[in-house]
Amino acid sequence: MAYLNDNFLKLKAGYLFPEISRRVKAFCDANPDAAKDVIRCGIGDVTEPLPPAAIAAMHRAVDELSARETFRGYGPEQGYEWLRAAIAQNDFRNRGCDIADDEIFVSDSSKCDTGNILDILGPKNKIAISDPVYPVYVDTNVMAGNTGEANASGAYGRLVYLPCRPSNGFIPVPPKRHVDVIYLCSPNNPTGAAATREQLEAWVQYALEHKALILFDAAYEAYITDPAVPHSIYEIPGARECAIEFRSFSKNGGFTGVRCAYTVVPKTLLAQTKTGEFHPLHPLWLRRMTTKFNGASYIVQRGAEALYSEEGKAQVRALVEHYLGNAAVLREGARKAGLKVFGGVNAPYIWVRTPKGLSSWDAFDLILNRARVVITPGSGFGSQGEGYFRISAFNSRANAEEVARRLRAMDWTPA
Ligand SMILES: *Cc1c(COP(=O)(O)O)cnc(C)c1O
Repeated sequence: MAYLNDNFLKLKAGYLFPEISRRVKAFCDANPDAAKDVIRCGIGDVTEPLPPAAIAAMHRAVDELSARETFRGYGPEQGYEWLRAAIAQNDFRNRGCDIADDEIFVSDSSKCDTGNILDILGPKNKIAISDPVYPVYVDTNVMAGNTGEANASGAYGRLVYLPCRPSNGFIPVPPKRHVDVIYLCSPNNPTGAAATREQLEAWVQYALEHKALILFDAAYEAYITDPAVPHSIYEIPGARECAIEFRSFSKNGGFTGVRCAYTVVPKTLLAQTKTGEFHPLHPLWLRRMTTKFNGASYIVQRGAEALYSEEGKAQVRALVEHYLGNAAVLREGARKAGLKVFGGVNAPYIWVRTPKGLSSWDAFDLILNRARVVITPGSGFGSQGEGYFRISAFNSRANAEEVARRLRAMDWTPA
């Protein structure tokens, strides 16, 4: 009989979103009249239609595929040159970051890239992750065998958890001890916090001193409103020697269903072999992508390219401003409800302290039952998320306003 990957058996059942669905369904079954009224602010998925520039470009691309003269089959695995050039110029060189076109690797997903990156990293790394955290970083390390078993509170052996609390602005600080790989997500899902230049400088300095690798997830870069907050890790001197950056078109262009993202691997970034020689990571990622990936679809890459046109940029801005407007409405609503509110300024997520010592799940049940609103319990993102909940701003304005109204009107006395 074949052997399976035992590491998968260490995974704690991905229970957060299934458990949310179960509780919402139970509530709707028990309260059929209220069911129509439920507003979902749980899962972080966009709600608004695609920018027209992307739609037009994708229509044109489909038409090209319909004629022999303009037909395209397999493209370059790393992405078409015109898209890599548009990305490197607009997202990096225009911001003063020295990134070459061939350091951009276009893919169909940042979620996949943040997991797949482990293909090119060795088994002995000490890995640091924030708590609370985007669960993908943890689970992909479990699958890859980089962790021990989970303990009763769900923390895995061999991982270094970096607590994110109000005292550090929900941005982890470099540990005293040595780690080899650090996952950073800024602006952050789930807390909505954005790392300042000083905080990122401290991490780059740590990484250079420890010859560590920073895996920087900037999926929410477009939501940065504070001019002092860096948009890329490469705005920090030295980052080309210690960081990989992940970006996605999911949250800026609303491409969650279209699927396009990219990863930046600078050619100056080195890691060590097991015998201690330094070797660049760029050729490994190139080999990984050309072997295990066959490129994002031509149509989708044309759609992504259109987001960099003048009209595309304006449409992306409008989309992001819509969600940030919702975030402001939700922040204000939660604040007027007497809640302690974080995030929502440089990110589409509001991170809220539960009142009256409620647990995250108790708050979930109370808000569902009394306000008919679905939020995400903070404890689902890690033990430090206990006592918080996340409200997503991905919604219509009318729904955001209604949620704000209901939170204000709600009786927060524990059931
Ligand atoms: C939404 C999101 C992404 C984007 O993932 P895609 O696979 O590109 O849709 C990446 N990182 C975080 C933290 C996210 O929330």
